[in-house]
Amino acid sequence: MSILFWLFIWAFDLYLARPLKQLMSQLDEVQLSQNISKRIDLSNIEKNELSQLQEHINNMLSAMEKDRERLLEDEQAKRIWLEKAVEKRTEALQILNEKLKVLATRDSLTGALNRGSFFEAAQHLLDLSHRKKLPASFVLMDLDHFKIVNDTYGHYIGDKVLIHFTNTLQGFLRKSDLIGRVGGEEFAIFLYDTGIDDAFLIADKIRQAIGSSILEIEGKTITYTVSLGIESSEPQDHLIQDLFKRADLKLYGAKDKGRDRIEK
Ligand code: GH3
Ligand code: MG
Ligand code: MG
Repeated sequence: MSILFWLFIWAFDLYLARPLKQLMSQLDEVQLSQNISKRIDLSNIEKNELSQLQEHINNMLSAMEKDRERLLEDEQAKRIWLEKAVEKRTEALQILNEKLKVLATRDSLTGALNRGSFFEAAQHLLDLSHRKKLPASFVLMDLDHFKIVNDTYGHYIGDKVLIHFTNTLQGFLRKSDLIGRVGGEEFAIFLYDTGIDDAFLIADKIRQAIGSSILEIEGKTITYTVSLGIESSEPQDHLIQDLFKRADLKLYGAKDKGRDRIEK
């Protein structure tokens, strides 16, 4: 009887108590380390309820691991989607910003700088030319008898002439030169590092190119001329407006003397 009792105790310990203890400790380990890729591995187990329990727990751990992987994949896909969406929005905002900048600084008809931004940029260039002790010139231009162009051919063609004028200017200038539409048919250019003689040569090229242009618009043949006034900066010229005022007087002089000419 006593032998049977000890045999039972031994078998109970070997096949149930010890594997159960192992099971508990391995489960604790999984829980503490939060490592669900670990698996329960009980020694000394027969094919019985305990082995089924081990298999069941391991299946559960495998299922949990797969769920976690799927969740991680979903999360990563969401993050990639979100990053792409943010990138697209940022790009759209940048394009919008550029468009707004153009709208705020440029004249919509000719693409030249509008009056405000022209004077602002020209003031910066004038300051820079003083600092570097370089010459700079201001050329003010006004289309001759433009009212007659409008009255004869209409505003639509008048607008095309303004565009033609701006495009012609661009052909004679460097990228660093500024072109501004400072009034209806009045334009200005600021020539950095350019003295009065070089400015006159450029102005004369512009005057000649405009005077010899023959525009064919909607079956009409249009010719026009431009008058120009030039001023170069003096050391005491700290305000761009001072240069502008003097160039304006020169322009009036060119108009007075018969138009299609330059006064410097
Ligand atoms: P002057 O030789 O003395 O400069 O004579 P002008 O006829 O050019 O001068 P005036 O100032 O009398 O006329 C300027 C004309 O420019 C009148 C105006 O309708 C026209 N103008 C101003 N802005 C625009 C525009 O955006 N489009 C068109 N088509 N015409 C414009
Ligand atoms: Mg005019
Ligand atoms: Mg005018």
